[in-house]
Amino acid sequence: MIPFNKPFLIGHELKYIEQAVHSGKISGNGKFTKLCQQYFEEKYGFKKALLTTSCTDALEMTAILANIKEGDEVIVPSYTFVSTALAFVRQGAKIVFADSYSDNPNIDADNIENLITSKTKAIVPVHYAGVACDMDKIMNLASKYNLVVIEDAAQAIDSFYTGIDGVKRPLGSIGHMVAFSFHETKNIISGEGGMIAINDCRFSERAEIIWEKGTNRAQFFRGEIDKYGWVDTGSSFLPSEVIVAFLWGQLENLDVIQNKRKKLWEYYYKKIKPLAKKLEIEIPYVPNYATNNGHMFYLKFNSLAQRTKYIEKLKKQNVQAVFHYISLHSSVFYASKHDNRTLENSDKFTDLLLRLPMYFELTEDDIDTIVDCFK
Ligand SMILES: *Cc1c(COP(=O)(O)O)cnc(C)c1O
Repeated sequence: MIPFNKPFLIGHELKYIEQAVHSGKISGNGKFTKLCQQYFEEKYGFKKALLTTSCTDALEMTAILANIKEGDEVIVPSYTFVSTALAFVRQGAKIVFADSYSDNPNIDADNIENLITSKTKAIVPVHYAGVACDMDKIMNLASKYNLVVIEDAAQAIDSFYTGIDGVKRPLGSIGHMVAFSFHETKNIISGEGGMIAINDCRFSERAEIIWEKGTNRAQFFRGEIDKYGWVDTGSSFLPSEVIVAFLWGQLENLDVIQNKRKKLWEYYYKKIKPLAKKLEIEIPYVPNYATNNGHMFYLKFNSLAQRTKYIEKLKKQNVQAVFHYISLHSSVFYASKHDNRTLENSDKFTDLLLRLPMYFELTEDDIDTIVDCFK
């Protein structure tokens, strides 16, 4: 059986968990947390990185930090995971759903401005499959209308965006705040896990407080104040050192993981391209300004019936392929709150997109088996 996803060990994950336990501290913000946060700040130039228990949590932190409240509007693509919208809904905001491009599930940056009103507070681009959204356009709108850009980069670790200035920047270093995931289905894993990257220093100090249950404990531990207490709202957003020790074992091997995944992705691309053309199936499109980080290999079929047929065919060969999001604007929870606009491209990806198996231990032989189902 070729599963859709498979968690893996690559380095000293288990040894580091043992070390954490023996160190006498397995609660949060210990040695491994500091190592991981420093790694991200140095490698990708994030101004401040804080590990969280999930990307969902990181997004909730961004919603608190951006001071989103009842009456505010937040622009979110409809073709995304629940968490992207949920963080803002919990603060009482109205979600204004945006459509995808026709050739790529990312938010259509040319159609965002129409959605901006005097109530709009934030734009939340999602880098689907790790492929960058058009960040120049989005950042320009944000400065024109004084909005906060919060990126959902759950799938976008080690991916890049090249701006019109020709500079190639890591995703996570551009928007005001950015959320990442280390869920077991992502490139770098810790079971559950996430991170908030903060590039706008207006939010940095408060982020640490919200992260530590509304207390200024982090400042206290650095010796900046002589006692700590309750100073703001917050929650327990920081992960245990047990989880983070595992993450550090993965991070030490980030380049190995990324090179392998990108190689598998290229192999898929090469093998499936000629067949896809014949079957009128679309393969992933990566705009010139974006890179591919080997997160996901997906196909876009020409009808729901065709997709269903191939899911069955793959299943017969013991290959687990899965479709993805169901447009959030037509979800049970949000349909009645949505403003009746049709989001044609998002609905097409709902019906037509299929994700093929992709994980570190996948082999080229496995890919041959999968691709054979399309012959
Ligand atoms: C995986 C994912 C999330 C949720 O991440 P968790 O770490 O499981 O909370 C949010 N948004 C997108 C786009 C994702 O792919």
